[in-house]
Amino acid sequence: MDATTLNNLRDKVNSGTRISLDEARELYYEKDLLFLGELARSVKVRKTNLQVFFNVNRHINLTNVCLSRCKFCAFGCDENDPGAYTMTLEEVLNTGRDLPPHITELHIVSALHPHLPFDYYLEVIRGLKEINPEVHLQAFTAVEIDYFSQISGLSLEEVFKSLMEAGLGSLPGGGAEVFSPRVREAICSRKASGERWLEIMETAHSLGLKTNATMLYGHIETMEERLDHLIKLRSLQDRTGGFQSFIPLPFHPHNTELSHLKRTTGYEDLKMIALSRLILDNFPHIKAFWIMLGIPLAQLSLHFGADDLDGTVVEERITHAAGAQTEQGISRENLIKLIQEAGYVPVERDTLYNIIEVYGEEDGLAP
Ligand code: SF4
Repeated sequence: MDATTLNNLRDKVNSGTRISLDEARELYYEKDLLFLGELARSVKVRKTNLQVFFNVNRHINLTNVCLSRCKFCAFGCDENDPGAYTMTLEEVLNTGRDLPPHITELHIVSALHPHLPFDYYLEVIRGLKEINPEVHLQAFTAVEIDYFSQISGLSLEEVFKSLMEAGLGSLPGGGAEVFSPRVREAICSRKASGERWLEIMETAHSLGLKTNATMLYGHIETMEERLDHLIKLRSLQDRTGGFQSFIPLPFHPHNTELSHLKRTTGYEDLKMIALSRLILDNFPHIKAFWIMLGIPLAQLSLHFGADDLDGTVVEERITHAAGAQTEQGISRENLIKLIQEAGYVPVERDTLYNIIEVYGEEDGLAP
């Protein structure tokens, strides 16, 4: 882009005016990453000042047995595969009885198991809520919700209402991948379409459930398909306001059917964080999911528009099945340290972004 175009775009973003698809495309092709970072960071500062959020959570992945077998996924497997597992209800509840201190959220996502009934998932939610009434349950991707509707014969509303009655608090944003029908046909043809994903989120929002949104990038999608995905999310958010955060997820090819593809570069990852912040002007938060980005890049992304580092996680199986080199979990003290070192103010939040504690310089620095 020439200097005049850059300046015009800077003025537009600084005045809080929405950028168009054409301008988003121009920004995508802009090589000056620091320009994009500066622009995205100015939006981040306008929205959340120097605050950077995190939460204390634990992931639970109930089963990896999956009938969808998406080509980009190293987690899902067949029932008879050596690494297949399915947690019994008692195992799940025992995990719920043994939670780390300060935890405010259980994050539960799994595979599409061919035989587990919808009642199993209801019992999981009900049981965990009974054991930990104060812990928020963020559970089930839109793809899982679609599957529950299929196996139970219930409508989307009925599925949501049953889960909410049992104790469901909100939805994560997974399963979105890239909405393009071309991409989905090629890499995940058996699961819910992009259109269905958006319909499920709209239904969730209409019932008062907050959700996140994601995009899995860096596989076979084109730049236009990425931009189309972001614009569709922005349109839905205009209608519902139900998304809390957007989480751009770089594809990890290891152990997948797409293992011939290369992992995205740090340049690309930071650019996607910045572009997301610039395009999704109606999303309150852009999350740098450290599990997939890696801790060093997640920390750097705070200067490229991200304002949330997700949580402590404790045990993560999905991305690690695809070769993620990150730790399984991270301590609250280390999250605080990472945020402070980057020059921001760590804010511990709950799932719905209620503030639990704001940490000053003297707090939480691990030795
Ligand atoms: S991405 Fe989800 S639906 Fe697809 S194979 Fe993996 S676990 Fe199954």
